[in-house]
Amino acid sequence: MSRYNYYGWSPYVPVAQRHANAARKMEKLRKQGQDIQPVTIEGRQIARSFWGKAWCDQLDSFGDYANRLPRGRTYVRNGSVCHLGIGKGRVDAYVSGSSLYTVTMTIGTLPAAKWKKLKRRCKGGIGSLLELLQGRLSDEIMSVVTDRDDGLFPRPREIKYQCSCPDYADMCKHIAAVVHGIGARLDERPELLFVLRGVDHEELIDADAAATAAQAAGTSGKSRRRRLAADSLEGVFGVEFDTAEAAPEAAPTKRAKKIAVKKTAKKTAKKSAKKSAKKSAKKPRPFRVTPASIRKLRAGLGLTRSEFARRLRVSAQSVVNWETKSGTLKLHAAKLASVQALAREAGF
Ligand SMILES: [Zn+2]
Repeated sequence: MSRYNYYGWSPYVPVAQRHANAARKMEKLRKQGQDIQPVTIEGRQIARSFWGKAWCDQLDSFGDYANRLPRGRTYVRNGSVCHLGIGKGRVDAYVSGSSLYTVTMTIGTLPAAKWKKLKRRCKGGIGSLLELLQGRLSDEIMSVVTDRDDGLFPRPREIKYQCSCPDYADMCKHIAAVVHGIGARLDERPELLFVLRGVDHEELIDADAAATAAQAAGTSGKSRRRRLAADSLEGVFGVEFDTAEAAPEAAPTKRAKKIAVKKTAKKTAKKSAKKSAKKSAKKPRPFRVTPASIRKLRAGLGLTRSEFARRLRVSAQSVVNWETKSGTLKLHAAKLASVQALAREAGF
């Protein structure tokens, strides 16, 4: 314990060691039922999408923030934001520094009058959920949503922040890292900006335009539109969305467990039958990469996280991030391909 504390407080703790300590803590919190969602940045760019970039640009454009935000960039890039959760008017995060710090931000929700005005100004200009979430907006709509006074983004005075580190008063690097982390999270889940501001983004979609689009596609209804949006977003951002279709995956697991409980002589026969069933099912359905499926694959191969990481030529931290991410998982094409190749090889 003294060893942990020593490392926890020493200013000379190498980043890798800090991350390992933080990862252990996150694992513990996860076991306690907390929904831990780390921020992972691939490459140098913190945010790539319209919403992610707009978030970072907006906050960077305010004097007080412009001076202080840069110090958070390295932190967010090297994976120090071990958890970032966005809720209505609130962001909660854990940031790994010399120790593990808790960052809380409260962000005012959009006042009803402002939201009403914004909706009026967007009227007829946004035809679909997909256009909205992808940020495929006309210049006019873009200027409405990014308006410093009447847009969707909060102004610094609407943001209150707190960090458990000793020098948070003047916006420490942990808070700055979280601000950038929000931008990165909006790349994956742009709808969270609306959640944060306490408004329903679907109210911005023009009902007539959406109906026409649905008719043209030979479909109707909200859920169908959602699926269309999710499908296309996967292509655009390389992001995998959790949709209703992910649900059936749970069924075979339960069945498999049941089979395992019945320890009969038929076990071997069933096993080989299952194997061949897997083989025939393998072709049409590539290995679906989700945190749960990665955990299953690694367990199936009997590898530790670092062994698994070596097989895939990625860092152990990447494996930790993949396995512990909640909801969505974003993998670069090359990494996705090597995970799928390994899964194929292992007969998954
Ligand atoms: Zn701090």
